[in-house]
Amino acid sequence: MPILSRNKSRGQEQAQEQSLTALSRPARIGQPERRVAEALAGRARSALFETCANPGCGSGWLHLWRSRQAPIFEGGWSCSAACTAALVASAVRREMDGRGLVAESHQHRIPLGLMMLEQGWITSSQLRGAMEAQRVAKSGRLGQWLVRQQGVSEQLVTRALGLQWSCPVLPLEYHDAEALAVLVPRLFVDAFGALPLRMAAGQILYMGFEDRLDPILALAVERMSGLRVESGLVQESLFGPAHARMLSAKYPAVELVEAVSEQVLARALSKSIEQAQPVESRLVRVHDCLWLRMWRRPQSGPMPECGSIQDLICSLGAH
Ligand SMILES: [Zn+2]
Repeated sequence: MPILSRNKSRGQEQAQEQSLTALSRPARIGQPERRVAEALAGRARSALFETCANPGCGSGWLHLWRSRQAPIFEGGWSCSAACTAALVASAVRREMDGRGLVAESHQHRIPLGLMMLEQGWITSSQLRGAMEAQRVAKSGRLGQWLVRQQGVSEQLVTRALGLQWSCPVLPLEYHDAEALAVLVPRLFVDAFGALPLRMAAGQILYMGFEDRLDPILALAVERMSGLRVESGLVQESLFGPAHARMLSAKYPAVELVEAVSEQVLARALSKSIEQAQPVESRLVRVHDCLWLRMWRRPQSGPMPECGSIQDLICSLGAH
């Protein structure tokens, strides 16, 4: 055995012995060994006193058999399945109460046709024609009728929508659907017409929508990813193909759960956490769904590793 590793292993043995008693009596070993022992004892101490995140925990650190690294829910370690359940139940209540949610904006928006008329982008006869066509067909958005029937440019309609929502019109260059699929579950991309577009400076996620923003989804993604989400509109004819590409990308594993009550839902979520033993997990509400994301391994950057993530999306069925 090489000298170095022999010394090291002897040091470690001593250190381990020492760490068990470090709290009760002073060390009687040489300087290098002492440093190793102190380091190990320090770790052991912090692990020993890692406290359960459940405020109502009755057992705490007595669960010596349990890893201190997992499971972590919203930054806090839980010492037992019962404590995980209590933490999750309180997070479910928090999300269902709607705290942390943005209210739907009831801000008055100038009707699209009127705005375009005021800007001089369409004539009143174009507006009347499109409105009449929409009324007869009982389908389609006014902007679509202006483009298809009245020959108005699509860029102008998108620009008007941007003014209406006070948001930018986002370009589609360099859209890497595969790389971004890890940030928003496929179900939300599909159901809420969201299009993760680009990450900038490792801090900002640009998210595109077709004709209206979804501030609730944007906030949920922000809370989940820690990224700032900037929402904007994408021109309709560009949105469709990009959205289809996005839907066919590879997403993290997801489990869909339908629960009849908050209690059932909380139980399902905490059971998943106990099974996956994640190093971090978070719960956010997205419209009528709760989204639990679990990270099974520590991450090195803002873009999570697809294979290490497990999503659970719950809808409240008969509620
Ligand atoms: Zn506990």
